[in-house]
Amino acid sequence: MGVEMDQELTAGAGPSNARWYQAGRAMWAAWVALLVLLLGTVAGLGLGRGQAAGPAATVRLASEARRSPTAAARPAVATLTILYTNDTHSHLLPFDMPAFGKNLGGIARRAAYIRAVRAATPHVLLLDGGDIFQGTPFFSFFKGEADLRAFDLCGYDATTLGNHELDEGMPHLRRMYQIASMALLCANVREARTGELVFPAWRLFERAGRTIAVLGVIGSEAWSVTPAAHRAGYDWIEPRQALPPLLARLRPQADLVVLLSHSGYEEDQALAAAVPGLDVIIGGHTNTFLEHPVLVKPTPLLVPGAAPSAFGGTLIVQAFKWGYYIGRLDIGFGPEGVLGFAGHLQPLDASISVPLDCPVARLVSGYEEQIRARTSLVVGECPVDLLYPEEEKHVRALPLGTLVCEALRRFAGGDLALMNSGSIRDGIPAGPITMGRVFQVLPFDNTVVTFTMSGAAIRDMLGFICANHGRITGYQYAGVTCVFDLAAGQVRDIRIGGAPLEPERDYRVVTISYLADGNQNGHELFKAARDKSDTGFLMRDALVDWLRRHPRLDPPPADVVAISGRPAVVTAVGSSTSSPGTPGPIRKD
Ligand SMILES: [Zn+2]
Repeated sequence: MGVEMDQELTAGAGPSNARWYQAGRAMWAAWVALLVLLLGTVAGLGLGRGQAAGPAATVRLASEARRSPTAAARPAVATLTILYTNDTHSHLLPFDMPAFGKNLGGIARRAAYIRAVRAATPHVLLLDGGDIFQGTPFFSFFKGEADLRAFDLCGYDATTLGNHELDEGMPHLRRMYQIASMALLCANVREARTGELVFPAWRLFERAGRTIAVLGVIGSEAWSVTPAAHRAGYDWIEPRQALPPLLARLRPQADLVVLLSHSGYEEDQALAAAVPGLDVIIGGHTNTFLEHPVLVKPTPLLVPGAAPSAFGGTLIVQAFKWGYYIGRLDIGFGPEGVLGFAGHLQPLDASISVPLDCPVARLVSGYEEQIRARTSLVVGECPVDLLYPEEEKHVRALPLGTLVCEALRRFAGGDLALMNSGSIRDGIPAGPITMGRVFQVLPFDNTVVTFTMSGAAIRDMLGFICANHGRITGYQYAGVTCVFDLAAGQVRDIRIGGAPLEPERDYRVVTISYLADGNQNGHELFKAARDKSDTGFLMRDALVDWLRRHPRLDPPPADVVAISGRPAVVTAVGSSTSSPGTPGPIRKD
C-alpha cells in the first residue's frame, strides 16, 4: 500500500479547518489571480503541439508522490488541482461515439493532459470514481491488469469500488490491487465472516502543505446490480451510516475531505444533503455529464446544526464516461482554509497530441498487440454458413440474428430478446469460429439490458415494427414467433416460448443498450417497458458465453418472424422493394 500510508501516520497534526470562512477579500483576490495564472500557464503549454516526454515525466511523478508531508512547505496561498475520471470501462484506446464524434479519449491522451497539468501546477491529486474495469477487449483478455498498469503509469492516487470492479469476483480484485500503486478505497463493504473492511476506507494525502482526506464508497444501486455470486460473503453498509464516524475522526485533521462515490448522481445528492462534512464528492456509475461542480447544501431537517463544510455544502462532480473527459477542480487555500473553487470538464480529443515516446501509449500498444494475437483463438465451431446479407437483414429474421438474440436471452434469463439488425455486422462462415470473428460479428461495445413488459406492450411493440416494415430498421429476435401480415399492417399469432402471448402477463425482455437508450426506435419500442436494468456485460460476452456452452453450434431456426402479404426480400438497405407498395428508405445503422 504504500507511500501515502506513511503520510497518514505523520499527518495527525494537520492544520485545523475550523475557520473556513474567515478569508478576507484581499486573500480571495490573490487566489483568483493565482488560479488565472495557473490556468493560463496550462493553456500556454500547447497541449495540441505535442511535447517531449518520456521517462523523466514518470520519475518526476514518482518523486512527487514520495514527498514527505513534514518536508512540504505550507504556502500561505496555494491551489490544489484535483483531476478526476469515472466509468472509464477499459477504454484505453481512443474510440468513436456516434453522438460526439470520432477518435475520442484514450488513456495516452489523458496521460499527456495530466502531465501538462502537473508541469504547470505542483499540487495535483489524481482520483477516480470507479468502474475502471469492463467494456473492451483490454478487460476481456487482461481482466484489469492492462487498466491498472496504465492508471499507475498516469500516477493515479486513488479510486473506489465500482460494481464492474467485481466482474471477476472479489478475490481477483484483491489480487489485482496487491500489485497496483493506486489505492482502492471503500468504507462500506466488509467481509461478512470477520467484519473487516475489504479495502482501506480512507487515506490522507499531503498537497500544497494541506492534508486531504480521501474516502471511498459504493452506493446502494451499484452494489445491488453486482452479480449476487460476487456479493456473497460480503456485507454492504449504507454510506450515510458508514461515513459519519469516519468523518468525525478525519475532519479535525483534514483541510479538505473528498469522497470517491460509485453511487450515481441521485444517490450522491441525497448523501450530500444527509451527511455533513463532505467537501467534494467525485461520483460515478451514472455516467453523468456535470460540466461544472454542483453545490448541494445539507438539508436542515435531516442534519440539525450541521457543521459547514469548506464550501457551505458539498461539491458534486462527475465526468461522463470512458475517459472522453477528464474533470478538473481547482481549490484555492489561504492561511485560514478554503478560499474558493473553479471546475470544468476537459474533453480529451484529437487536439491533444501524444508524444511518440509516451510510456502509457507504449504500454497500451503492447497489450493491443497481444489482443491481436489472441483474436486468433478458436472459441467454437459452426456447422453451416450463417450468412448475414445486407439486403435481407432489415426485412427478415435471419438465423444468425436468432442465434445472437438467443445468446442474449439465455445470458440474461429473459423470455424474449430483440436487437436492431444493424448491430450485427457480419456473418459466421462454416468452420472454426475465432475470437476475431466474434469481434467482427459484434464489434460494438453495447451491453445487455433487460426490461419488464406486459404482453399487451409486447404486442404493441411488434405491431409498430410490423406497421413500419421496410421503412425502419429491421430487428432480430429470439424466444418469440409471430406473423407480420404486411397486407393488413398487423402482427398475428404471437407466441412466446411456444405459448400464445398473454396480454396481462409480465415478460422479461432482453435487448442491447443501444436500443434501450432510445436509438433505432428504441424510445417507441420500449415506451411501456419498466424496470430497466443494464447487466453491464457486453453483448459480445453473451455470445462468447453461449459458444462456450455450445462449442459446436446447432443451426438456429429460420424465420421466427414469418412475413405474409408481401415479398419478404428488399433489394438493399436504402433502396426500394421489388414489390408494389414500395416502402421508404431504411435508415442504415
Ligand atoms: Zn457502475
